[in-house]
Amino acid sequence: MTFSIHGLAVARGIAIGRAVLVASSRVDVAHYFIEPSQVESEIDRVRCGRNAVVDEIHRLQQTISQLGPKDAPHELRALLDVHLMMLQDEELIGGVKHWIQARLYNAEWALTTQLEMVARQFDEMEDEYLRERKADLEQITEKVLRAMQGAPSPVIPLPVRSGRKASQQDWQLDDTDVPLVLIAHELSPSDMLQFKQGVFAGFVTDVGGKTSHTAIVARSMDIPAVVGARTASQLVRQDDWVIIDGDAGVVIVDPSPIILAEYGYKQRQVELERSRLGRLLNTPAITLDGEKVELLANIEMPEDAPVAVRAGAVGVGLFRSEFLFMGRQQNQLPDEEEQYQAYRRAVEGMNGLPVTIRTVDVGADKPMDGNLPETAYLNPALGLRAIRWSLADPDMFVTQLRAILRAAIHGRVKMLIPMLAHLGEIRQTLALIEQARTELMREDVPFGVVELGAMIEIPAAALTLKTFLKHFDFLSIGTNDLIQYTLAIDRADESVAHLYDPLHPAVLRLVADTIAECRTQGKEVSVCGEMAGDVAMTRLLLGLGLRSFSMHPAQILAVKQEVLRADTAKLTPWAQAVLAHDEPASLLAG
Ligand code: PEP
Ligand code: MG
Repeated sequence: MTFSIHGLAVARGIAIGRAVLVASSRVDVAHYFIEPSQVESEIDRVRCGRNAVVDEIHRLQQTISQLGPKDAPHELRALLDVHLMMLQDEELIGGVKHWIQARLYNAEWALTTQLEMVARQFDEMEDEYLRERKADLEQITEKVLRAMQGAPSPVIPLPVRSGRKASQQDWQLDDTDVPLVLIAHELSPSDMLQFKQGVFAGFVTDVGGKTSHTAIVARSMDIPAVVGARTASQLVRQDDWVIIDGDAGVVIVDPSPIILAEYGYKQRQVELERSRLGRLLNTPAITLDGEKVELLANIEMPEDAPVAVRAGAVGVGLFRSEFLFMGRQQNQLPDEEEQYQAYRRAVEGMNGLPVTIRTVDVGADKPMDGNLPETAYLNPALGLRAIRWSLADPDMFVTQLRAILRAAIHGRVKMLIPMLAHLGEIRQTLALIEQARTELMREDVPFGVVELGAMIEIPAAALTLKTFLKHFDFLSIGTNDLIQYTLAIDRADESVAHLYDPLHPAVLRLVADTIAECRTQGKEVSVCGEMAGDVAMTRLLLGLGLRSFSMHPAQILAVKQEVLRADTAKLTPWAQAVLAHDEPASLLAG
């Protein structure tokens, strides 16, 4: 019988295939009291289990160190580090010892008890990203339990062919060629490694929010995926036919022949569209009336630079440098040399095309592990994030500024400062940049010239543009945050996601005025929020005068197609009408 499951759409496209279920069953744990004389041997059993998992992760790290970034994404490497950190965490191990020594619990019971204690702390965390790390903790605990039992760690099982015929006789694929889709409660890093090797056509997980690692990896792989599908791993059976609609966030199980045919058609359309778009790769992005448009890439790691070039980007409009800082302890932040090498790799990877390096933007939904405030702040998005965090630790900031300035001798580098609102912050930032230059000069360390830009992502900044334009060479509009702060909608909170509206007249007014003011003053302006990669927004942004868009590389050709079809002479008056309307969305539809 056909039924559907709704989750969060995280990676686009349609996948149709047979379900491969990753058993998520928790290991059966025996509960009994031990004799006092057994305390040491029980603690030893936990230690051995933990060491076996640590060894397994080290082996995995070795394997992936031999793979390229395509087969072993940086997210996977970071996840393995997080798992190692958790395994070595004293609170977990110390707690387990406590239950064994004080209560005489057997080793497994002690471990699961301590897991519950720590998991409760995760549940109480304000921050979505950190709450999601609970799943990582559960995974490693399960692995330790299995190791203690001498059982191998669960890996993705080979698909069991039940012999049950596909319910749709009209499905033409030979059984061995049938695509497989992965259904899991949650995917561990080692699962992802196998997944990365191209076995599966799509995947669904019960848990995970939009910022979960699974969602991040899915986007980097650009294959259909749905996360947060709650009970999918319980409802779907091994070998079931499944459709994953990554655009709608829907999973259709055991589809009827009519539904299957409909989605088969949709899937072919998506594939056709992709290959058709491929032909635009070397076409310059110029509108029908001859306006040149710059299509840039947003990247997270230096290794993404060649991917951006291959996707047709003419530069990097946003290098989110905070990804170099995340997943580390405060005292293990990347030093100047490590940062310099990373920025240099990104610059060289772009073969002479410009690279806009944004200074670190941690905080809110991007906390740095090990650097949590002792008290949980009520509104982290309004707290110590981005430039505020940098200015609160000038030494750390100057280290980054020096690394960026040094990387500028290898190509065209632009430096972008996030979340500025106050003139005082601008002055402090400029002074620290000057300090970094003076230090390098004094030490005889070569460095290059950088253009300096500010992100416009707080309404206060959008309303005081003249101040910003006095001090910066270019501006970049961060619509993700600009929408969040204009409408007072937490961008990470799903319960208010329906109010997160890029087309709210107030948002459009701030975006339009920023573009217009920059044009009047002859300063470069781009949009680097998600709006820039949304094809439904391309015509409007062009009509408002935008000529520089920065987005996820996978979106570049689709946006280029919109650009090629656009006539800005016609779009300009239309955009003004949209701007004046109290329901702008009604003019965009159709
Ligand atoms: C933005 O806010 O639009 C932006 C591009 O920055 P981030 O999404 O990294 O906050
Ligand atoms: Mg932002």
